[in-house]
Amino acid sequence: MVFERSRVRQVVATQPILLVGDGFQVEADRVVLGTNAYAPKLGFFRRELLPIHHGCVVTERLGAVFDSLPPTFTQPIGNGADYYWGRKLPDRRLLFGGGLRYSYDNGLSFPGAEHLYAALTRGMRGMFPRLGDTRIEYQWNGPLGMFADSQPRLGTTGDHANVYYALGYAGIGIAMAIRFGSLISGMLDGIPPPAWTRTPAAWLPGEPFRYMFVNAGLHLVDFGMLRV
Ligand SMILES: Cc1cc2nc3c(=O)[nH]c(=O)nc-3n(C[C@H](O)[C@H](O)[C@H](O)COP(=O)(O)OP(=O)(O)OC[C@H]3O[C@@H](n4cnc5c(N)ncnc54)[C@H](O)[C@@H]3O)c2cc1C
Repeated sequence: MVFERSRVRQVVATQPILLVGDGFQVEADRVVLGTNAYAPKLGFFRRELLPIHHGCVVTERLGAVFDSLPPTFTQPIGNGADYYWGRKLPDRRLLFGGGLRYSYDNGLSFPGAEHLYAALTRGMRGMFPRLGDTRIEYQWNGPLGMFADSQPRLGTTGDHANVYYALGYAGIGIAMAIRFGSLISGMLDGIPPPAWTRTPAAWLPGEPFRYMFVNAGLHLVDFGMLRV
């Protein structure tokens, strides 16, 4: 059975595990953490996993200019400008994404979102001047879960090794999370995952140094002085 809209506030990693939510408690022999960037706020990988905020804007439906745009594009990280990526959508809109920022103490909101959308819109018009003053109809952002080396990981954690995790897909989780879901399902049946998924993750400094260190690194990436 699946219970949606059931926010877990606390995971007590005893045996059995106790999940405490708003108005409910659940006991479980094993738990799978599929919470990606939200895991540190639940008390897991607070020192290793970073919620990095990333955003998108989507144009109104486009006329003839749509046919002249490339189907997909990426302006790589480390080329002296912000990292942008995007693609044409089936309903004749252009999706344009970018931005990498860390919010203090593994924060899950992005206070500068309006500036990000404005910067993305400027970036999009700079890259495709023929879009002119095309309107933006949708915009959103969310946290990506990212380890220091941008590699995802899975395994077990807790004193009883009964909390299974699959986390840290950075910007490529749509396909990777499905593959890791299948590996986690194998682990629950006793099939070990490939060794490369289980390498230890580097520790990052605590606050306020983490905020300074991570955002300084992201700015160096933006300026093309650091490659990831
Ligand atoms: C703007 C943007 C664009 C992106 N573009 C791409 C792309 O083009 N291609 C790509 O591959 N990836 C992309 N990504 C990354 C991709 O979205 C993630 O890697 C992927 O969603 C990770 O899947 P997940 O299921 O592990 O985590 P999520 O999709 O983040 O799901 C985590 C779930 O856990 C739930 N949760 C969290 N905390 C709790 C709690 N306490 N109690 C209960 N439930 C909880 C959340 O509600 C959520 O449903 C993008 C991300 C962003 C933000």
